Amino acid sequence: MPKFEYAPAPESRSIVSLRESYGLFINGEFGPGVDGRAFKTISPATEEVLAEVTEAGPADVDRAVSAARKAYEHTWSAMPGRERAKYLFRIARIVQERARELAVLESLDNGKPIRESRDVDIPLVAAHFFYHAGWADKLEYAGYGPAPRPLGVAGQVIPWNFPLLMLAWKIAPALACGNTVVLKPAETTPLTALAFAEICQQADLPPGVVNIVTGAGETGRALVEHPGIDKVAFTGSTEVGKQIARACAPTRKKVTLELGGKAANVVFEDAPVDQAVEGIVNGIFFNQGHVCCAGSRLLVQESVYSDVLASLRRRLATLRLGDPLDKNTDVGAINSAAQLAKIRELSEVGEAEGAQRWSPPCELPVKGFWFPPTIFTGVSQAHRIAREEIFGPVLSVLTFRTPAEAVEKANNTPYGLSAGVWTEKGSLILWMASRLRAGVVWANTFNKFDPTSPFGGYKESGYGREGGRHGLEAYLDV
Ligand code: NAD
Repeated sequence: MPKFEYAPAPESRSIVSLRESYGLFINGEFGPGVDGRAFKTISPATEEVLAEVTEAGPADVDRAVSAARKAYEHTWSAMPGRERAKYLFRIARIVQERARELAVLESLDNGKPIRESRDVDIPLVAAHFFYHAGWADKLEYAGYGPAPRPLGVAGQVIPWNFPLLMLAWKIAPALACGNTVVLKPAETTPLTALAFAEICQQADLPPGVVNIVTGAGETGRALVEHPGIDKVAFTGSTEVGKQIARACAPTRKKVTLELGGKAANVVFEDAPVDQAVEGIVNGIFFNQGHVCCAGSRLLVQESVYSDVLASLRRRLATLRLGDPLDKNTDVGAINSAAQLAKIRELSEVGEAEGAQRWSPPCELPVKGFWFPPTIFTGVSQAHRIAREEIFGPVLSVLTFRTPAEAVEKANNTPYGLSAGVWTEKGSLILWMASRLRAGVVWANTFNKFDPTSPFGGYKESGYGREGGRHGLEAYLDV
């Protein structure tokens, strides 16, 4: 199928007004860090410097935790749920009002296509605040006792793949349950969290209820190890998650970890091929594959292997890679040089171990960090590309003959975050879902998110649930 030529349709950047430098957001105000350190955040699509951001040291984290404690004790935990709900509703509405600006900012700082930040990330951010606003005055009906208590101050650390959405997943339930927070965004994508700090000011949120400290791993470590924190919520790599679990083990802190994944997307012979191919593409090429629950292992029933592969190759040839701000773009930039190096390295390992690599003809921009949509066939379960999280637009294809073999192969991973099943038979879907060891199993769809639905992992994908009634448990003293 030839690729249609579209005229460029760039979203305007002028809706975003970037400051030259950003301070830390502590106790309701932006201010400098104690030791005056800063780092730059760049656009991964062009390598242009977007802004300078303050690096919070231990003294800043300490100030933020104290502000959060004061706000917790004197304001937020004492406020009736119906009053807290008003703030959450207000935040949700401001996010909607500023949606276009937030989408452009997210695409600039992260490299993801505007189509995704505009149609997926930002609407879900608003939905998370609306949903949790609804819970704030109904917690006694959530099934955690007649008067569930908040935990206190939450220290929250998030990754760069869905910067504002991960912030919403963390802050909305914490605030709804009566906790105050100190949140650290990822070092490569701090800008939407800082815009969110402005939204807190706009919503007149009492000072100290939300504090945003920017910085890299050391800032994150200072936050999760701070003795004044009652709860740690982390989303990121399994390696860092294990370090945090070890650091918190001897403390009374309540911990939830949302970590990596290596999800199987299982296509049976009776699945409608075109629909399954859309699901495979959405599963692994959405957000350049920077998705913890990405369907990075495709398991295809042997009898339809060649049909599915031929359709998949045809479909991949129609994907448009390029300017994240162009509304026609399907595949944007890789978030950082470090992530690009990791994707390249694992892809080279894939070839060296004997798998066959294929990408559609695809011109990569000269500046910035780019990787073409890639498929590996001839992959065996022992290959590193079938076992390790690549966190990029790279799909490993394996085959199976029977449903039992599909289950065996799908579960043969240290992770357990998500899985997909494609078949016409409802009974087979249920049979598979009850055997797949994954927190989420999608049937005839993939990468569907909703604030009412709990999300989380098994095994090395972490513990605890976010979203839905189950997600409230992580922020209540139950
Ligand atoms: P990462 O673990 O390197 O970083 C995540 C965050 O932790 C960043 O803010 C980072 O600054 C901070 N950090 C780094 N070292 C730290 C330390 N020692 N103590 C405290 N904080 C520290 O991961 P990443 O590369 O930013 O994100 C990619 C990973 O996140 C992938 O493995 C992906 O699967 C996972 N992820 C999981 C989910 C989920 O819901 N399960 C969602 C998104 C991403």
